[in-house]
Amino acid sequence: MSDPGDRAVAPLHRRSSGTGAVTVRVPAKVNLHLGVGDVRKDGFHELVTVYHAVSLYDEVIVEPADELSVTVAGEGIGDVPTDATNLAARAVRALAAMVDRDPDVAITVRKGIPVAGGMAGGSADAAAALIAADVLWGSQLDRITLEGVAAGLGSDVAFLLHGGSALGTGRGEAISPVLSQGDYHWVLAFGDVGMSTPEVYAELDRIRETEHMTPIGPPDGVLAALRAGDAVALGAALANDLQPAALRMRPALRRVLDAGKELGAVGGVVSGSGPTIALLARSSNEAVRIASALPGLGVCRTVRRAHGPVLGARVVPADSTTA
Ligand code: ATP
Repeated sequence: MSDPGDRAVAPLHRRSSGTGAVTVRVPAKVNLHLGVGDVRKDGFHELVTVYHAVSLYDEVIVEPADELSVTVAGEGIGDVPTDATNLAARAVRALAAMVDRDPDVAITVRKGIPVAGGMAGGSADAAAALIAADVLWGSQLDRITLEGVAAGLGSDVAFLLHGGSALGTGRGEAISPVLSQGDYHWVLAFGDVGMSTPEVYAELDRIRETEHMTPIGPPDGVLAALRAGDAVALGAALANDLQPAALRMRPALRRVLDAGKELGAVGGVVSGSGPTIALLARSSNEAVRIASALPGLGVCRTVRRAHGPVLGARVVPADSTTA
């Protein structure tokens, strides 16, 4: 947990000074465990998941303007809407309705989290925009109210307000902290093309209708490994019910998992609905070694290292922004 970037981040609700703009940095997530249950009456699946925030970030800047607008910068932005359906814009509108004001802000989203990568980039931007607008407008909503707004925006948004490692239940939006020690070192292999979360769930439903598939069960192994701070045990316990569906839709992802194992990763898993593969290394040095060797095997193009757990959405002091 010693990334100097993390130390530069102010506590939640500290105001960026001077510019009238508020910048919030927000991490991506991987699911250390993603247990998918039955489809509920509202169409969502019942989930039991262990979220883990990793040091791969988007930045969301919110500033006063005549009307609501969204600008997006970074990789993969062709697939990110800049209209009212952008999750950051939806978050600002939801907060404005809650505090009874116009959502008249300009939102700039700088993407560092892969789009449609199974790392909850859109939800991260929603969490960041909530915090930024709350600070900009001085509404100072309490955490429970903010979490309520977050839960209405998407399954992962409430977790990204918190960060760290946490248990998610319901459709993922009911968050409780878990005991965790240690810093975990990840190698993230990004897919060239994103995957649609609803399509991956639909594929899982199809597989379950026609074939016997043993569900991954409760997250006891992951929780015990986090409590013990044991990377090797955590690697062995990583599990995702969506993985067979994602692998069936993208068989090449299997080669990334196999390559990770051959290179000495202690575990690997499809992140959320994919296609990002999260490989867990035994140490920081091992992560460097695996990340440098992986591209040479020709199984994936873009590889990034990250560590976790890290804090959730936090205001960046004005003097440390790159704007
Ligand atoms: P999930 O949270 O379902 O796992 P994901 O991480 O796989 O999603 P996202 O990066 O959140 O994928 O993008 C999913 C879709 O959400 C995109 O294809 C895009 O159309 C839409 N979207 C809306 N707002 C945003 C945003 N701010 N950033 C990225 N995608 C957004």
